[in-house]
Amino acid sequence: TASLEVSRLAYAYPDGTQALFGVDFRIERGERVALLGPNGAGKTTLVLHLNGILTAGHGTVTVAGLRVGEDSVLEIRRRVGLVFQDPDDQLFMPTVREDVAFGPANLGVRGEELEQRVKDALEKVGMREAIDRPPHHLSFGQRRRVAVATVLAMEPEILVLDEPSSNLDPASRRELAEILRSLDVTVLMVTHDLPYALELCERSLILSGGVIAADGPTREILADA
Ligand code: ADP
Ligand code: ADP
Repeated sequence: TASLEVSRLAYAYPDGTQALFGVDFRIERGERVALLGPNGAGKTTLVLHLNGILTAGHGTVTVAGLRVGEDSVLEIRRRVGLVFQDPDDQLFMPTVREDVAFGPANLGVRGEELEQRVKDALEKVGMREAIDRPPHHLSFGQRRRVAVATVLAMEPEILVLDEPSSNLDPASRRELAEILRSLDVTVLMVTHDLPYALELCERSLILSGGVIAADGPTREILADA
């Protein structure tokens, strides 16, 4: 079954800039896919369509059987977990526990179940010991891992990461790669870091000028690029 299906997606901004020209691809459950492409290719515009921040002029986006723009935006946002490039856009509570609890609590998860979700999500990113710490006391790499946990705690269908390796030192970069490999979730990663794509994603999409210019095994795509 597909986690994500994008069909004939086209979009122009209100000022008339055409950012996407009929984008088609499908990501199966459990795949890890890199989204590559030059600045201005439409990557951000595409990602903003995946959880309904933007809705299509033309075409469809389906996440776990739900249609973006038609089915409940809350249901869609629960299933599409966005990890921003800057973790400080995602962490705003006094402690790590409260930051990771925020999403599931909003969905109505309470008590023991909420506590368990928080611990499980932090365990998955190796940050369980930081549960009572203020996020701003953590290193950048640790904050990025906590930002991933805030999204995992929502139990998303697909995890979408914007430049996950940016600003990480080599050790943090390796740690995050191991974490992403260990997760049992579909991943779409926007990146300019080709070695990271090669290391983590069996498949890559190249978006260029608002169209999918290539879609296939990362090794072959990078050899041709
Ligand atoms: P990428 O993320 O690959 O760098 P974007 O999705 O940000 O690409 O941009 C795709 C195209 O849409 C570019 O031509 C960009 O200038 C344009 N664009 C992006 N955001 C806006 C906006 N808010 N209004 C008008 N044009 C935009
Ligand atoms: P990124 O490298 O993250 O894709 P961009 O340079 O594409 O960043 O865009 C940064 C921000 O500027 C985005 O929020 C995008 O929507 C906005 N933007 C990009 N191009 C335009 C444009 N031509 N007009 C208005 N806003 C734009």
